[in-house]
Amino acid sequence: MSQFNQYSFAGKRALVRVDFNVPIKEGIITDDTRIKAALPTINKILQDGGSIVLMSHLGRPAKDMAKKPHLTLADFSLAPVAQHLATLLQKDVQFAEDAISEEAYQKAQQLKSGEVLLLNNLRYYKEEEKGDADFAKKLAAMGQVYVNDAFGTAHRAHASTAIIAENFNASDKMFGFLMEGEIAAGERVLHQTQKPFTAIIGGAKVSDKILIIENLLEKATDIIIGGGMSYTFFKAQGGKIGTSLCEDDRLETATALLQKAKEKGVQIHLPQDSIIADKFDNNANISSAPNTAIPDGWMGLDIGQLACDSFAHVIKNSKTILWNGPMGVFEMDKFQHGTKCIADAVAAATESGAYSLVGGGDSVAAVNKFGYQDKVSYVSTGGGALLEFFEGKALPGIVAIKS
Ligand code: AMP
Repeated sequence: MSQFNQYSFAGKRALVRVDFNVPIKEGIITDDTRIKAALPTINKILQDGGSIVLMSHLGRPAKDMAKKPHLTLADFSLAPVAQHLATLLQKDVQFAEDAISEEAYQKAQQLKSGEVLLLNNLRYYKEEEKGDADFAKKLAAMGQVYVNDAFGTAHRAHASTAIIAENFNASDKMFGFLMEGEIAAGERVLHQTQKPFTAIIGGAKVSDKILIIENLLEKATDIIIGGGMSYTFFKAQGGKIGTSLCEDDRLETATALLQKAKEKGVQIHLPQDSIIADKFDNNANISSAPNTAIPDGWMGLDIGQLACDSFAHVIKNSKTILWNGPMGVFEMDKFQHGTKCIADAVAAATESGAYSLVGGGDSVAAVNKFGYQDKVSYVSTGGGALLEFFEGKALPGIVAIKS
């Protein structure tokens, strides 16, 4: 692979896989974070004197239309993204309605230095998600050099994210700035770890986070477990959790994780108390309770003040922090306090010199909601990809460039 920064794109047509999977409502892009995240890579290529063919997916047309019959193929078009990108770049962005067509191929061939073409949604073709080699070859013919800047799909062995790389020489394939940044941030936490290393794992389900916790037991000094998933651990230890979220088929897993942590000398921190509610609603009656004695008919929807204070103490003593998943139902104002306390503590630790990486959809949403995105060291754009990276898996999008 080549180093993106050292590669000169002058006179070259670069085929760049980006993650433009943005929310669009009635043709309006409601959050352009992912488009903006790709701008440094796009600008470097244009400034070098190269031209660009951009490709991305948007949603899952077939699956989403099956679930929501009012949707049509037009709802998955990247045309609004082409327009929005043109505004951000302050230059014309050409668009190919059909990614694999004579028209797209001609437009790509005719690009001049400094020009940009966006191909329409790759997932209009089932071959994309299947990782079809012929489809990948057709895409590859659009460019002379391949740049992968789509960390959000790096855990998928799809045609445009992994298989396509086989069509390029090692010197003509590379990561873009965003991918490089994501990989460097992940490596810093996982492999160049300054200890104490605290992993904060929250969210709804234990089952989604078992693999990441298991892998982190090999790396972390402390693991904080909050959010809905923590109640499965309390029930496993014989606690009364009322109607709190619980995965009854994971009780043994929770016990085994606690046992393994003990053997490895990793401190697991579970919240002592919760903010409890009599229904899953922002207008519910609320109270607080120890997590071993939540009354019948009540559910824990946020960590309590004791937990906030003790978690903050651990976080502030850390040199490396990974945060994935909220501490409570932060989308509702009544249950956002715990997640905000954690954000405060992570920001304070970062200010004192710790390295903090926040990743996974909902913790990023929380950090953005509280305006902390510039107070942590790195906010990842990857959800599933970040999770798999920290589960210790090799991501196909990374392997394809490096091999
Ligand atoms: P995940 O996608 O697994 O990281 O879960 C994130 C979701 O978990 C968010 O939508 C939260 O509202 C939800 N969540 C966090 N804590 C709780 C809880 N105590 N009870 C129910 N849902 C929760």
